[in-house]
Amino acid sequence: MSSLRFKAVEEAFTKKAVEVSAPTKLTSDYYGKYVFNDVAMAKYLSKDTLKALKNTIDKGAKLEGTIANDIASGMRMWAMELGATHYTHWFQPLTDATAEKHDSFIDYAGAPGGAIIEDFSGKLLVQQEPDASSFPNGGIRSTFEARGYTAWDPSSPAFVVDDTLCIPTIFISYTGESLDLKAPLLKALSALDKAATAVCQMFDPNVKKVVAFLGWEQEYFLIDENLFASRPDLLLTGRTLLGHESAKNQQLDDHYFGAIPSRVAAYMKDIEFEAYKYGIPAKTRHNEVAPNQFELAPIFGECNLAVDQNLLIMSIMDRVARKHGFRVLMHEKPFAGINGSGKHNNWSMGTNTGVGLFTPGKTAEENLQFVTFLVNALMAVHKNNALMKASIMTAQNAHRLGANEAPPAIVSAFLGTQLTAILDKLENSTTEEAIIIDSKKQLHLGIAHIPEVFLDNTDRNRTSAFAFTGNRFEFRAVGSSANCSSAMTVLNTAMASQLVEFKAEVDAKIAAGSLKEKAIFDVIKSYIKASKAIRFDGNGYSEEWKVEAAKRGLDCETSVPKIIEAYTSKSSIELFTKTGVMTAVELHARNEVKWETYLKKIQIEARVLGDLPLNHIIPVATRYQSLLLDNVYKTKAIFSAEKAESISAINLGLIEEIAERIAIIKNTVESMVEARKAANEIAHEKEKAIAYHDLVLPHFDIIRYNVDKLELIVDDEMWTLPKYRELLFIR
Ligand code: ADP
Ligand code: MG
Repeated sequence: MSSLRFKAVEEAFTKKAVEVSAPTKLTSDYYGKYVFNDVAMAKYLSKDTLKALKNTIDKGAKLEGTIANDIASGMRMWAMELGATHYTHWFQPLTDATAEKHDSFIDYAGAPGGAIIEDFSGKLLVQQEPDASSFPNGGIRSTFEARGYTAWDPSSPAFVVDDTLCIPTIFISYTGESLDLKAPLLKALSALDKAATAVCQMFDPNVKKVVAFLGWEQEYFLIDENLFASRPDLLLTGRTLLGHESAKNQQLDDHYFGAIPSRVAAYMKDIEFEAYKYGIPAKTRHNEVAPNQFELAPIFGECNLAVDQNLLIMSIMDRVARKHGFRVLMHEKPFAGINGSGKHNNWSMGTNTGVGLFTPGKTAEENLQFVTFLVNALMAVHKNNALMKASIMTAQNAHRLGANEAPPAIVSAFLGTQLTAILDKLENSTTEEAIIIDSKKQLHLGIAHIPEVFLDNTDRNRTSAFAFTGNRFEFRAVGSSANCSSAMTVLNTAMASQLVEFKAEVDAKIAAGSLKEKAIFDVIKSYIKASKAIRFDGNGYSEEWKVEAAKRGLDCETSVPKIIEAYTSKSSIELFTKTGVMTAVELHARNEVKWETYLKKIQIEARVLGDLPLNHIIPVATRYQSLLLDNVYKTKAIFSAEKAESISAINLGLIEEIAERIAIIKNTVESMVEARKAANEIAHEKEKAIAYHDLVLPHFDIIRYNVDKLELIVDDEMWTLPKYRELLFIR
């Protein structure tokens, strides 16, 4: 009998919810306590220092050395009061996790060997060298300069975790190439600000700044820790590589928005307390569609900060899960046959004057501005649909998008019936019909104003990768384990570049004598036509859509290593260099890292999938087969030949089936190992990644299929791996 599995099941069943309580009764009393936010800054920095820092945050002004010293010492005092003894530059290497190296505040007061004091200088705050030679860099640092350094991002506030002051930083090489995910995002956001502000000023000269907003929705699975520990595949790869579907999974939809189980509820509360401590406005918590799947979403915020908050909460979620006897699975597809996890990125833009640029307005001018931004977004996504897909594609997310049981990996935009009708109308109107300028020189959009009901529009399409949802776009294809920076960098860069082009086209028309409104309308109208192929309101999961999307010229590639190439297409290199977000060198280097990461993930999975069947499955199946053989043998000894044959018919069938499946599994594992060896011989990362995709990966399904069939016939008591029903329904 398999002791580990049953012990785990027993322990999981008897666990009680951990008791949790809020740090203080009112959330507002401890909200943001561990963040060096405006309240803390006002208390720990002098007025002049604060003013200089604000100037840097808002306008990117350079910080003087003495000011940096003042900030560092104020920050240190604040952090020490919260128990911090160390500090770290917290950065985002190309691995989708965060990295940190902790240093103590201590230093000699005078001569070495003398008295010790706590110290933290402006120099240490602003820049550090993390000795990070082992972080992936795609060859940038070996080609250029051996070292990389981290530099403070003052627009994302420092925070204290346990005994450490964490300072959000970018990570760049000495020759200036970005080695992380934050630096390009900051550049993209600044390009967007510039381009969008220029467009807004055509409508309202008071607009001085445009920011991008992000509201992420983090989906995750919670699995009991004991059960998790008895599944080597979950432990090593974050997903189940084997396991037959449970008889019941998500067909009844009874988990979605159902009562939250008590152990999970305690965990969720704990996460929220932590989120509030760090000024993360966690707003909704609920069950998701799949059993043991849940979601956490905050109120949206400025994009760069929202990305950091997501990364912080992901690491907190992992830590707190252990306290509650759970493991949190951020993998995009931990279980076959049921929903995977995503991280919808709700994206919008807003002005310093408080206008949401994707919010339908109340006046005709506002609506022309709304339509302008909406249509430019469609253009940006249309032109860059392959790149958008590349920005979210990983080995893990492919199981959610593009792989066999997943919806197709095609980026299209959903607008809903009302907006579609409005764009259709505009497309078919003459300028005179669409733009009416009255006697007071007031402008009117000659279509009925965009109805308010639109905001509560419920005809939402869950199958669209990029859907308009009333006052924002929802980029749904982003994976649950992803750093949102990748998607947000591409989206904001594409939008920035698009707005620059738009402005240039409009300006050219005005210079040629056109009225401003007419020029804007004419360009919009041409864009509505040009971007039509990206608009799709039908079922994005259907087979027909695959055919239709290919006809429309949308990118339909399904192989991850090839999808990634969209980053270095001629148009993408032009997009990133023109906007100043990334150079061709950076783009090529990053792709090397992506290919390497991809193939390593498949490599690890292939190793686990070689080990598990040979060491766990086949021995158990063989043992069970021996029992059956023994039974057949003994039956023969007792009964007449004829009777024995009929009694043993079923067992004989099972014996044969086990033998056949074992043979298939063994042969497939062997040929998978051969394919892996051959792939490993390939020198170039891209070709190697393609070999892993084309030649190694296809073995997985065959092995799994046959193991899962064995799971159905082998004695349950002998089976060593916790089954889907146990992983998914015990909590
Ligand atoms: P659903 O699951 O139905 O998509 P949720 O309420 O779970 O909706 O999530 C909506 C997310 O969208 C939240 O994170 C919310 O803060 C965010 N959001 C709402 N309005 C905007 C906006 N204008 N810009 C960006 N994000 C927004
Ligand atoms: Mg959503």
